[in-house]
Amino acid sequence: MKTTIEEVKKLVRPNIAALKPYSTARDEYEGEIGIYLDANENPYENGFNRYPDPRHKALRARISEIKGVPMERIFTAGSGSDEIIDLLYRIFCTPGWDNVVSIAPSYGVYSVSAAINDVEFREVRLNADFTMDPDAVLDAVDGTTSMIFVCSPNNPSGNLIPTRQIEYLLENFPGVVVVDEAYIDFAPGQSMLSKLDQYDNLVVLHTLSKAWGMAGLRIGMGFAHPYIVETMMRVKAPYNMNSLTQATVLKMLESDPAAQVAELVAQRDLAMEKIKTMPGVLQMYPSDANFVLIKVQQPRAIYDRLIESGVIVRDRSRIPGCEGCLRITIGTPQENASMLAALENILS
Ligand SMILES: *Cc1c(COP(=O)(O)O)cnc(C)c1O
Repeated sequence: MKTTIEEVKKLVRPNIAALKPYSTARDEYEGEIGIYLDANENPYENGFNRYPDPRHKALRARISEIKGVPMERIFTAGSGSDEIIDLLYRIFCTPGWDNVVSIAPSYGVYSVSAAINDVEFREVRLNADFTMDPDAVLDAVDGTTSMIFVCSPNNPSGNLIPTRQIEYLLENFPGVVVVDEAYIDFAPGQSMLSKLDQYDNLVVLHTLSKAWGMAGLRIGMGFAHPYIVETMMRVKAPYNMNSLTQATVLKMLESDPAAQVAELVAQRDLAMEKIKTMPGVLQMYPSDANFVLIKVQQPRAIYDRLIESGVIVRDRSRIPGCEGCLRITIGTPQENASMLAALENILS
């Protein structure tokens, strides 16, 4: 039983469905030659005196080439995927009424965004090995659940959620399934992008913050049915990506990060092999991302001693399901060697 776009439309908050969006000067006249006296800009050229393209057309065209997804299925944000997560709440959830289901432990922004939007957030714990039980996720769903969040590869656990399990959710949940693939470039061939045509209720999130090395530029991407993309366009801030960012990202997208990604993946596997053999490492979880999660006896003490050695990792040990866990991002070969030496020294 698939959820059609007509059913997705019924999930849109009535005020959003009825919204007449702000129409910018650039929306109303898209030509490129003439005397622009329509936007109350300062006419004197300094490189930034004009408003940016509100629909980021050049950037979306380039992303379309890179990802093999048509432009009308691509939404781009200037404040990261975090902006898109918030937009989805505002579009699909009536505050104080609807709820959202997510796997846990997972990315913290889903629950914070739920709280900001006054939306009940239901967490379904992953198994001890961080695999997902799709039926447990569906059991948490009721008549007012509008979205399910699945992060794959999952942060902080690092593992991919199998495609067939995500498809099971898409086929059995009559709402929107958001699949956050922030780390998918480290797990080639596993993206749900190839399933976009098949599922009207699928939203896939990507980012340029991780593999693409542009965390500072804050580019998030949402891939979905054109109706969902158009609805996000209507709700977003009119100029949600400045012209300096649009131009810089286009330029940076000329070089592809495949070589760096391959090295990071090789470095990750090397780090996993080494950490696995260290004394006091209770668990080395498999990773499909650019970080590893380890379980140790005294996470806080090890975290503090790593800092004394100049290595900062993320203490995730207070998150339910992550007791004892530290999350370590993979750096350059030199940085990893320093991290491994420090960890070995502390543990032995
Ligand atoms: C890092 C990360 C993001 C990226 O967020 P941006 O706002 O695009 O930088 C999204 N989802 C997850 C799970 C992440 O770990």
